[in-house]
Amino acid sequence: MDALIKSIRPNKSTDTKAPETRPAELDPAEFLAAAVRADQPRPSRAEAEQAVQTLLGYIGENPAREGLLDTPRRVVEAFDELYQGYHQCPAEVLDRTFGETAGYDDFVLIRDIEFTSQCEHHMMPFYGRAHIAYTPVERVVGLSKLARLTDIFARRLQTQEHLTAQIAAAIDEVLKPRGVAVVIEAEHTCMSVRGVAKHGAMTFTSRFTGMFRDNPAEQARFLSMVRGPNR
Ligand SMILES: [Zn+2]
Repeated sequence: MDALIKSIRPNKSTDTKAPETRPAELDPAEFLAAAVRADQPRPSRAEAEQAVQTLLGYIGENPAREGLLDTPRRVVEAFDELYQGYHQCPAEVLDRTFGETAGYDDFVLIRDIEFTSQCEHHMMPFYGRAHIAYTPVERVVGLSKLARLTDIFARRLQTQEHLTAQIAAAIDEVLKPRGVAVVIEAEHTCMSVRGVAKHGAMTFTSRFTGMFRDNPAEQARFLSMVRGPNR
């Protein structure tokens, strides 16, 4: 399934009557900056811990029993870690580029970037691997930066579709490559431990821009390398 967000690049199609099959344009301001301003009013840590106590009471627990005394603090600390992506800036990560491609004109693929994110519907983890390729024109980033970019978006409440689209759009917007390809495969615990409770079901999402969208052969080559041997 292709993520349901259209390319941030201008539509080159001359047929302006054709309805855009993908809804809402992704606004770079929404995904290129840190999601939370430092001065944004937020509930205090004490209020957050109080909310955890409320949930403990809701499930029938006694928040005052010894084993649970530190739980609200631990949960809020875990939230700080799991959701630190709200305070990090994706554009900054991609900002340090190398201008020299030394004549390299193929795509760069980073396979098997492990991530854990939280689904925005249940606040339960989904985790898996991202595979990212882009074809540099002038600007190349250090390979670890694409993993960091993935983590920044993953450490926010997400849908897998948005995660896929945001990674692709950020690379597209900052590096201006000839194309970006992103495939994400993930297991959703909201599906594996609750709801239909199906373990091991994997959800795949993909997003292609530029040459990967326009050239089926390049898209196929990317996919065969992602699925390729040594997996
Ligand atoms: Zn969910």
